[in-house]
Amino acid sequence: WLGEGTPADFLHVSAEIGIGAALVVDGKLLRGTRGFAGELGHVPVRPEGPACPCGGRGCLEQYAGEEAVLRAAGLGPGEDRVGLLAERAAAGDTDARRALRGAGTALGIALTGAVNLLDPRAVVLGGALSRLAPWLLPALERELTRRTATPAAGVTVSRLGSDGPLLGAAHSVVRAVLDDPVAVAA
Ligand SMILES: [Zn+2]
Repeated sequence: WLGEGTPADFLHVSAEIGIGAALVVDGKLLRGTRGFAGELGHVPVRPEGPACPCGGRGCLEQYAGEEAVLRAAGLGPGEDRVGLLAERAAAGDTDARRALRGAGTALGIALTGAVNLLDPRAVVLGGALSRLAPWLLPALERELTRRTATPAAGVTVSRLGSDGPLLGAAHSVVRAVLDDPVAVAA
């Protein structure tokens, strides 16, 4: 709705507190039977990995969630830690770069399943991931290319940055009203 040339089929991936994906098929958001479609953060990356609050083990969130990455980069509590992480990575900080490489690898492994299953036109990184993309993408794309049988979907960065998920939520409400104004008036 907001981006010129956005494909009709794509997988949007964002990370804040957790990692979520939104699958858009033919221009429409796929919600799943119970509204939980896109729980990419709980896709296992290492089946024998550490226990996750969801009940599983070795979920993506434990390797590429915001907290996990900030911890791996040695960043303690503070304001705008994602911005600080990006600054350090840009300056060549080894810990920051290693943490982001690890997160990119984990994202690539988790996304392999989604891409093999769904064959989207593109994978779009949004939210906090868009600010960290320069250091996540190489490892992510390497894993995805290595693990997918067909030519891997292109990975791009959302032009909406961190505002994308919020704008999407707001527009989905507006769109529901436009699609069926009578239901709202009733
Ligand atoms: Zn989990």
